[in-house]
Parts: sequence; structure tokens; C-alpha cells
Amino acid sequence: MSAGYFPKREKVGLEDLFKGLVTACHILHHHGILDAYGHISVRSPDNPATFWMPRNRAPALISSPDDLIEYNVEDASAVEKDAKPGYIERYIHSEIYKRFPAINSVVHSHCRDILPYCVSGVPLKSTIHMAGFLGNNVPVWDIAQHYPSGSKHDLLVRNTTLGASLSAAFKPTTSTGFIYSKVRSALPTQIAGTPPDPSRDPDYAVILMQGHGFTTAARSIEEAVYQAVYTKEAAQTQTKALAVRNAYYGQILEGKIDVEGGGKIKSAKAKTEGDLKYLSERELHDAWEANQSTLARPWELWCREVEVNPLYRNECPAGDD
Ligand SMILES: [Zn+2]
Repeated sequence: MSAGYFPKREKVGLEDLFKGLVTACHILHHHGILDAYGHISVRSPDNPATFWMPRNRAPALISSPDDLIEYNVEDASAVEKDAKPGYIERYIHSEIYKRFPAINSVVHSHCRDILPYCVSGVPLKSTIHMAGFLGNNVPVWDIAQHYPSGSKHDLLVRNTTLGASLSAAFKPTTSTGFIYSKVRSALPTQIAGTPPDPSRDPDYAVILMQGHGFTTAARSIEEAVYQAVYTKEAAQTQTKALAVRNAYYGQILEGKIDVEGGGKIKSAKAKTEGDLKYLSERELHDAWEANQSTLARPWELWCREVEVNPLYRNECPAGDD
């Protein structure tokens, strides 16, 4: 197994990278992050101006280097003129690579456990220590505010304008609370890999997309997969905890009712007994830092899970790693 498909750029050959990318497709499908839709990409190790992602095929069925396409970061065009058809939403990936030099892998997903937080107004927050990277404020990007004139309103990120808008949501002009890039820059270099520079990193690891899904950006394939899996875990935990809390405590209103006025509530406030416990700012920071050095453990397990499952075929030759 590779020691990492980034950030050790100079040590990663393309063969190894392809094998890792195909494996990542299978892992993300196995964990319900990708179904027939959604995708993961990785920046080229020897050329930061291009990236690789699967062709237009269900991720579980991607199996060989022939299923992978190299794209230009500049405009998401295929490097090879006779490339097979690709995913429409590859602009998500190209614009994130363009804006953030430190980002080397991106996952975009329509995961059903996360969708409620894309439409309900209930904020997704970190309830579990494995998802410290989520912080206490995961922004929801609404494509309806950004369609260029003449564009289809089908919620798909199908051009560079929409891709750039989504990418900008990862680093808004003003960010509050837990800031991913600040935590990054505070990490020891032996953990972060390359010397820290907050301007190269997004402020958020995950952006929710209104009525659509989510996108996460990371420094390596392993980290992107980790963040995708644990964003789902965090959403599942929060959803179940909210349901349990509401079933137990109910919704209690305290106040006055104007009977003569037709039963209108004159003044009232909701009792919030039993609010969920979210990670504190300090816990977010320290949990995220602690988990950084443990990514190899779930990665090894997840590789083995898809290796022994006959649905998944990885026919990429092993590199010299
Ligand atoms: Zn999508």
C-alpha cells in the first residue's frame, strides 16, 4: 500500500496514483458516499496544472487507467483531445484546484444522510471527535444565487463560473469561528507535510450545496476520503441525536395566549432543555489535529474491504512504491 497519494508528491508515480484513485472510488461507494453519481479527483503529482478523475461511469465500476481522464485545471478541458466523455460537474474540481494550491484531492457527493442539512436550515455541526474538521459552521452554498445568464437552472455545477462561485465559498472574505486554514498553519510541518501557508488552504473543509449534496477538499486522496466518510458519520449522529432529543423532551413553549384574540400566542419562548452537545472550539482544533496522524489506519481497513468485495475490480498495475 502506498504511504500516501500526496502530499509526498515527488514519491508518487502515476501508476500508484491511479491505483489509489480507483480504490478511493470503490471505498466511497462502499460507504454510501457515492452512488451512480458523485466523484473524486486528484491533482497530478508531476504537474499542478492538471488533475485526474474518472470518466463518465458509476464510481463502483471504475477499474483501470483507461477509466481515468486527465483534465486541465484552467478550464476543465481534457488534456487528450480524444478523451472519453467525462462528468459534467468536473468544474467543481478544477476551480477548487485553481483557487487552492495546497489542495490535491476533492470529493463531490449527493450522500442522502447529508442532504437534510442542505435543505432544512438546520446547521450541520461537529458532534463527534472524528469530524473535528467540520468545525462549528458548515456553510450552505445556494447555486440559485449564482446562475450566469443563459445557464440551465438544474443545480449542476456545469461551467467555470459556477465552479468558481462554489470554490469561493470555501474561503469567504470574512470567516468566523473554527477556521480550517488557521488550524493547518498551526500544525507541525511533519504532520502537515509542506510548510504551512494559510493562503493556500480553504477556510472550510466541507461546503454543503443547497438541494444537491456536499463537496470536500483535502491535501491527499486519503484525507479527502476520510473527510467524506466522517462528514456522513457526523450527519448521521446529529440526525439521530436530534430525533432522540425531540422524542424525549418534546417541544415546550412557555408564554401567554390571547384567548379573546383568537388564540394567538402573545409572547412565548421555546424551552431548549436538552440541546445537543457540540464540540467546543478547542475540542474541534485538538481533535482534528490528533486525527491527522491516524489516517493510515482507516485507509488500510477500507482498502481491504473493497479488495475482498467482488463488486469492485482494481486492474491498475501496482507502482514501484
Ligand atoms: Zn452533483
